[in-house]
Amino acid sequence: SAWSTTRLEPVRFAPSMRQAIEAREALEIELRRALSRNEFELFYQPQVDLRSSKVIGAEALIRWHHPQRGYVSPGAFMPVVATTSLAEGVSAWVMETAFRQTAAWHRAGHSVRVGINLSQCQFSVGDLVAEVERLLVACQVPPELIELEVTEDIILDKFQQANAVFSAIRAKNIKIAFDDFGTGYGSLTYLKKFSLDTIKIDQTFVKNFILDADDAAIVKATIQLGHSLGLSVIAEGIEDRDTWYALRDLGCDQGQGYHFGKPVSSADFEASFLVSNGSQAA
Ligand code: C2E
Ligand code: MG
Ligand code: MG
Ligand code: MG
Repeated sequence: SAWSTTRLEPVRFAPSMRQAIEAREALEIELRRALSRNEFELFYQPQVDLRSSKVIGAEALIRWHHPQRGYVSPGAFMPVVATTSLAEGVSAWVMETAFRQTAAWHRAGHSVRVGINLSQCQFSVGDLVAEVERLLVACQVPPELIELEVTEDIILDKFQQANAVFSAIRAKNIKIAFDDFGTGYGSLTYLKKFSLDTIKIDQTFVKNFILDADDAAIVKATIQLGHSLGLSVIAEGIEDRDTWYALRDLGCDQGQGYHFGKPVSSADFEASFLVSNGSQAA
């Protein structure tokens, strides 16, 4: 047949495409090494009560402390992590590290609520509820100090299972936040279907909302909607005082952004936001 006489040519990629594939493979090898060498680190960004400006929480944000390149942002490596077998190991490391940090701050007298970003693999592979239960016991952390952040895209294909997982987690007094609210296609459906505590308004709506009437309408409606549903509302990406005050006057509960502080190492977070600030319970 034609098959037996056809010589199979190796697949040829354009040079740029081959380079991209090789670069990706190299990155994957480096990331595997990074996990085993403990090169990942969680930074913490303050979350404040917009009325009192007190620091009440922190979002844990992963960084890769690369031996040559310094701190690398998650946007540069998490998309690769997510599509490889590394995903489980990295997300387990994030959870464990954030729970331990929350417990350590709590033991030191700081009741700081810590927000942890979940990954898609935690809905498709692992048993998230069991892992959360294990960490609560192992770390002796008050559950109300943990807030798990989920985005639409990570639960998109796990629509049915996700709500059972959320309900089980909330039954343990751990909070669930809907991250990047408004950027997906089904935000309102998700609000209706899912058992949640918090909405995080995405920074794309917050950044210019003082000057942009459309953004202002969306931000205002989201705050009202969240409150009507009994949820608390956090605004992301607050970069100046006017934006803070405007959000506060609209009744937005909490905020995070460069105006209050960039994500920093746990040691810097303690020095800047815990020792002097006297944080309060969430
Ligand atoms: P996110 O969860 O929406 O986190 C907020 C991002 O906005 C962070 O970027 C933060 O540094 C940035 N940000 C906060 N305030 C401001 C501001 O006032 N102005 C500006 N321009 N940016 C601000 P980062 O740390 O680069 O993280 C990016 C994304 O990577 C996160 O978005 C989250 O989706 C993902 N990510 C970060 N850490 C983790 C992690 O541990 N696990 C997982 N699965 N994803 C993570
Ligand atoms: Mg987040
Ligand atoms: Mg966000
Ligand atoms: Mg995001």
